[in-house]
Amino acid sequence: MVDFMAADLNWSSLGFGYIKTPYRFVAEYKGGKWNDGGLTEDDKIVISECAGVLQYAQTAFEGLKAYATQDGRIVTFRPDLNAERMAESAARLEMPLLPDGMFIKAVEQVVAANRDYVPPYGSGATLYLRPYMFGSSPVIGVKPADEYQFRLFATPVGPYFKGGVKPLTIRVCDFDRAAPHGTGHIKAGLNYAMSLHAIVDAHKQGFDENMYLDAGTRTFIEETGGANFLFVTKDGRVVTPKSDSILPSITRRSLCYVAEKYLGLTVEHRPVELAELSDFTECGLCGTAAVISPVGKVVNHGKEICFASGMNEMGKVTKQLYDTLTGIQMGKISAPAGWLYEIK
Ligand SMILES: *Cc1c(COP(=O)(O)O)cnc(C)c1O
Repeated sequence: MVDFMAADLNWSSLGFGYIKTPYRFVAEYKGGKWNDGGLTEDDKIVISECAGVLQYAQTAFEGLKAYATQDGRIVTFRPDLNAERMAESAARLEMPLLPDGMFIKAVEQVVAANRDYVPPYGSGATLYLRPYMFGSSPVIGVKPADEYQFRLFATPVGPYFKGGVKPLTIRVCDFDRAAPHGTGHIKAGLNYAMSLHAIVDAHKQGFDENMYLDAGTRTFIEETGGANFLFVTKDGRVVTPKSDSILPSITRRSLCYVAEKYLGLTVEHRPVELAELSDFTECGLCGTAAVISPVGKVVNHGKEICFASGMNEMGKVTKQLYDTLTGIQMGKISAPAGWLYEIK
């Protein structure tokens, strides 16, 4: 039994919460190899109390969306890049790589089986997909698990900018997210576990998000807990921070391509100093959830840096980037080859 029948869902009032859908994909790794995997209706997992994931956090995940385009297709956006990033996360956490094609097969099967839960075009809602892998066998001496599960479930989520766009206020955070040469560049659950205190504290102090700095020198801008920064300079250049401890956002990479190839803007991907913040006129957070979410103000220990053209609404360039990328995603603007992956 699922919690809601698709027909009962009010797409535009959905939030970002878990709603159980009928089918999910599971594959198991045992004896040094993956089985073929397949769909199941069972949303429960039974594992040892001593499973590697529970004791030493051996787990990584991905996040992507399936949605309906203007011409009625169901598509996902660049899922090959999620598959690639999952492989990098698995390798760094000593988890086995998935067989070629399994990630995409899981995406296809889960979306097709839960087709009724793909929100209609124009609703702003999407079917969020959550692929993940974890060590399932008992581990007490610290080492990689011998057995793993790869799973992918789907849950419908509402429009991100529901009550309209409200630019965020964020703070420069005194906690660090990722160490140099650590795990900041992979999508590991552990990066999120250690960000929870920082975000709860930020909310208590009245901020929407944390701006993390590089842990080595605390002079360069890295990212937030779950999104990459994109800045616009006064003369209209797009600047995104570069660091080995930033998670390579697929949205950010796509926005930079759009900036260059569709909007003819100059794009710089380079280390960005905290001291440069006041040189920018627009600031946005890039990720699958919002595509780009404008930041109006950064507070650095009482000192406010306001982005002139983004205090009350999306700045001009941010809006152009947002409209172009979402237009590409929804099939209204022609997409670069391979960006839209259709689910039959
Ligand atoms: C997932 C994630 C992002 C956004 O990546 P997308 O591929 O654009 O969704 C950014 N930063 C962190 C830390 C993330 O985990």
